Amino acid sequence: LEAAAAAAIAKGHAGKWVLDLRNTTTQPVLAELKDRALRERIMRASLSRNGRGNAYDTRAILARLAQLRAEKAKLLGFPTWAHYVMDDQMAKNPDRAMELLGRLAPAAAANARKEAARLQELVDEQGGGFTVESWDWDFYAEQVRKAEYDLDEAAVKPYLEFESVLQNGVFFATTKLFGLTFKERTDLPVYHPDVRVFDIIDTTGEVIGLFYGDYYARDNKNGGAWMSSFVDQNTLLGQQPVITQVCNFVRPAAGRPCLLSWDDVTTLFHEFGHALHGMLSAQKYPTFSGTATSTDFVEFPSQVNENWALVPEVFGNFARHHATGEAMPAGL
Ligand SMILES: [Zn+2]
Repeated sequence: LEAAAAAAIAKGHAGKWVLDLRNTTTQPVLAELKDRALRERIMRASLSRNGRGNAYDTRAILARLAQLRAEKAKLLGFPTWAHYVMDDQMAKNPDRAMELLGRLAPAAAANARKEAARLQELVDEQGGGFTVESWDWDFYAEQVRKAEYDLDEAAVKPYLEFESVLQNGVFFATTKLFGLTFKERTDLPVYHPDVRVFDIIDTTGEVIGLFYGDYYARDNKNGGAWMSSFVDQNTLLGQQPVITQVCNFVRPAAGRPCLLSWDDVTTLFHEFGHALHGMLSAQKYPTFSGTATSTDFVEFPSQVNENWALVPEVFGNFARHHATGEAMPAGL
């Protein structure tokens, strides 16, 4: 309510409430709205964006875009745009992509149907008297989540202190797997005082590149988390990689620990997987360095790296209480 009132003031409607649409189909606010008619109105508004026949309607532009793409693909000797864009990807052609989706879809649809049945049960128990629609999904899923999987984030966080997750988790797993170690440097220029720099050192003790970590949220920073490179590794110009990892963790008050959620921990491991892809690159040309691979391969190192967070040897090393050093209780 406070956020909706603040949004109204920002838009010149003080004393009222504004629910902004986010740039996704589903809207976070749907999980909280008790008024079913309002949920429907918001979902329909979200689904019909850029398709309401007004000045913002982009359907004709999209149709023209598709026509031009088809024309371009034909000129280049491909039967369709999909064949053209997939030619240099791992999947190679749309048939193989459809085959993969064909294997995934039945399982995913079965899961969704099962979940819908559980949500319908809840609606019926509460005497709702309606069939679950897309605008009801988040509202009832949230209730099921609370009732059946009550995970107390606040109880978990004290065991997920940022510095420990980075040093005793992310770096620790990397040392075990690849022999790389990280030594912080304070003598190099940074673009913001929050930014930290580390030498990346291989098993022979040689520095093979630099790693920049920029972890706290700031007003002028994009949302989310990502990996990028300031310098791409390449032997053509004899350049070592300079890799960066950017997150948006909430900065703790002075002298307080930065405590992460499990989502944050996964993000840190994920983006570091991309960072490793850049650090361990061995290419002649910068164009092909690091993460400049097929887009249907590029998430592989990051997804694999996420898994190490839950390996007991790694988890037990970083998930310790920030004040007492105790391991996380098994119940959590
Ligand atoms: Zn990724």
